[in-house]
Amino acid sequence: MKSNKGTIGVTTENIFPVIKKFLYSDHEIFLRELVANAVDAEQKMKALADAGDFKLPLDDLKVRIELDEAAKTLKVIDNGIGMTEDELDRYINQIAFSSAGEFLEKYKDQIGSIIGHFGLGFYSAFMVAKKVTIDTLSWQDGAKAVRWSCDGSPEYEMGGSDKKDRGTCITLYIDEDESEFAAKGRIQELLNKYCKFMPVPIVFGKKQEWKDGKYVDTAEDNVINTIEPLWSRKPSELQKEDYDKFYRALYPMGDDPLFYIHLNVDYPFNLTGILYFPKIKDKMEIRKDKIQLYCNQMFVTDSVDNIVPDFLTLLHGVIDSPDIPLNVSRSYLQSDANVKKISGYITKKVADRLEDIFKKERAELESKWDNLKLFIEYGMLSDEKFCERAMKFCLLKNTEGKFYSLDEYRTAVEPAQTDKDQQVVILYATDKEAQYSFIEAAKNKGYDVLWLDCQLDAHFVNLLESKMEKCRIVRVDSDSIDKLIKKEEDAKVEMSDGQRTDLSTLFKAVLPTENNYFVQPAKMGVDADAVLITQDEFMRRYREMSALGGGMNFYGEMPASYTINVNVDHPLVDKILKEEAEKVPAAEVVADAPEKATEEEKKAVQEKKDAAAAAHKEAVEAYAKGNELLAQLCDLALLASGMLKGKALSDFIARSRKVVEDAYLKA
Ligand code: ADP
Repeated sequence: MKSNKGTIGVTTENIFPVIKKFLYSDHEIFLRELVANAVDAEQKMKALADAGDFKLPLDDLKVRIELDEAAKTLKVIDNGIGMTEDELDRYINQIAFSSAGEFLEKYKDQIGSIIGHFGLGFYSAFMVAKKVTIDTLSWQDGAKAVRWSCDGSPEYEMGGSDKKDRGTCITLYIDEDESEFAAKGRIQELLNKYCKFMPVPIVFGKKQEWKDGKYVDTAEDNVINTIEPLWSRKPSELQKEDYDKFYRALYPMGDDPLFYIHLNVDYPFNLTGILYFPKIKDKMEIRKDKIQLYCNQMFVTDSVDNIVPDFLTLLHGVIDSPDIPLNVSRSYLQSDANVKKISGYITKKVADRLEDIFKKERAELESKWDNLKLFIEYGMLSDEKFCERAMKFCLLKNTEGKFYSLDEYRTAVEPAQTDKDQQVVILYATDKEAQYSFIEAAKNKGYDVLWLDCQLDAHFVNLLESKMEKCRIVRVDSDSIDKLIKKEEDAKVEMSDGQRTDLSTLFKAVLPTENNYFVQPAKMGVDADAVLITQDEFMRRYREMSALGGGMNFYGEMPASYTINVNVDHPLVDKILKEEAEKVPAAEVVADAPEKATEEEKKAVQEKKDAAAAAHKEAVEAYAKGNELLAQLCDLALLASGMLKGKALSDFIARSRKVVEDAYLKA
């Protein structure tokens, strides 16, 4: 064969420096690209043999990776179909190089962001090598071995090769700047990352054994991959143990998964995979172990953000699909029709599986619910379709630890908890200690209380309320129990405007100043507490949602506000009000200005009225501050709501001690 020289069919003279610069961040993918080409060549060989075009018995198909650390050469050797001189010229000189050139030209703006997700193919060898040679012998009868070499300039040399056996050997002379790729540990690591599940045995050196105080090579090949990974096998042949074992191989540090889902579809797109619901123990660590994306058993990436819906990125496992376009920018992925279908399919499969578990393994689902809950609520909040499905299998847990589906729960509480307007009122608690007295009050009425303590629950409650018809969901401490589930109209409180103002002044004078209070007289019966502090459901929920991030900053910026329900039926409240009426002189009555008065005269009258009201208010406040009983009632209410702290608490203790001593020692 005559030796010849030529110029690679790329218009850009300096394509190599461009490649090196653009691909800087992800040089390591070269190995994946070369091994993928080698695997392709092997599979083509197998296809030829299967079709009967290749008549000789087929030797073991293997890809070998050989590293010479001292010489800094790395070889990728296959016994695939090889290339004839003509093919090499066509595939490497013309097509491979020119397509890489076009590729770079087309994507030069996005290239930084898409690195690592497309196949630059053979060409990527030049990211790490100063010189590359190809020795290849085609499978075809009478083919001659060819050698191609190129030192990183756009010129190549082609001539005869002494390669004797069928296949291709690519030799990389690793660049000094890239010497990490001439180290055994690094190559081992890359093979593990990218080639662990490739469909043809990948051999890296020999298996080693410990002998005479050191590791020595054995005769056995060191195969680094599993040729038939679990996801490529039939679900009917597999047991739960197989899935658990595979999970441990993928994430050696993780706890056992809760459930698995085997994905397998070949129309209208091709996708296989296994997804796991992980046991999320540390909420901060949620995204450390990720779903891995493969393309025909070749690892592509573990950032699947635009391929699966956001809430499913919490899952672990693998997805393998040749139909996910890899050589496009991330933002393009989201709008790709295939990707949309794939994402929809995965969501549906996850919902199917959960519904199946709900129907067939209810006890199992309940026992794992606390770990699954965050994931499911997140899914329901972020994905309309998933939410629709999840309404069937989503569980609710009450404060006694009993589980219900949404429908079951409604049916269970409907008889007792329907209010006078025919609305079902669902009660929930978020803190068993702080809300203890409210939970007890609800239970004493024969009501049930749900237990919601998940980070997302404020949003979740809002969602459920919007999905469940004629239903309100309120926290047990958001009002007195009779008002939360109103069975009849409120008994009317007979009080004048002046009396109401005085009542408000009295209580606000002794309550801590950091919160907003709304004081409201209520007829709660003689047996109920004198004072009850509640927090409006709506205001509190929106504040919490805004704290979690939900675009409702307006609510987040408001101070916490509480309702002080003063029970006018209670004898102690009655005593305070009567005493106040006796001891604090009534506000001075200022006569209204006559109709015909001038603006100025009217203004003077108004000023007089304001002054009288202010003077009266001051007198009421002075009275309140000296009223031990009032302070004691407020503090008891604060204490019941877990809000009595610091100096207020120690004042309360001192006062109570005195009360107790007075009661027991002086009697
Ligand atoms: P791609 O693999 O995307 O087609 P490459 O630049 O990697 O692009 O390779 C170009 C072509 O060269 C391949 O399509 C294949 O025909 C041929 N080729 C590359 N490597 C090998 C190999 N190891 N054995 C046989 N043919 C190969």
